[in-house]
Amino acid sequence: MGVFPSGAKGLLHSMQIRKQFKFESAHVLPHHQGKCARLHGHSYRLDVAIRGPIRTSGPAQGMVDDFDTIAAIVEREVIDVLDHRSLNELMDNPTCEIIIQWIWARLKDHLAGLDELILWETATSCAVLRATDFA
Ligand SMILES: [Zn+2]
Repeated sequence: MGVFPSGAKGLLHSMQIRKQFKFESAHVLPHHQGKCARLHGHSYRLDVAIRGPIRTSGPAQGMVDDFDTIAAIVEREVIDVLDHRSLNELMDNPTCEIIIQWIWARLKDHLAGLDELILWETATSCAVLRATDFA
């Protein structure tokens, strides 16, 4: 506790944590008037953010959740399903905005405190989905 000028009283009780994942998938956007109507692929990056209390007991004491636990769930429910797959096999018109909603639906029952997803389709283009969007 000595590193905190105000001692333990300065520690927060809850916060957001996030972990980043990568997968590579193909897709076609059938309604697009330009090059996205052709079969092509992306190296997607996915940020998964959890918000919750910092645990005060057990093996994850001092954590919102164990990053390894989050990784195991996201890999099982999302990455293993989408990686090296044509996304059109799983959803119609797989835009970034539609893919991120598919991912949210896969994760919401498995990740308590799911707070935010960011799906990067390219280095400069992403969709953001927050728990508050469903309020
Ligand atoms: Zn694309």
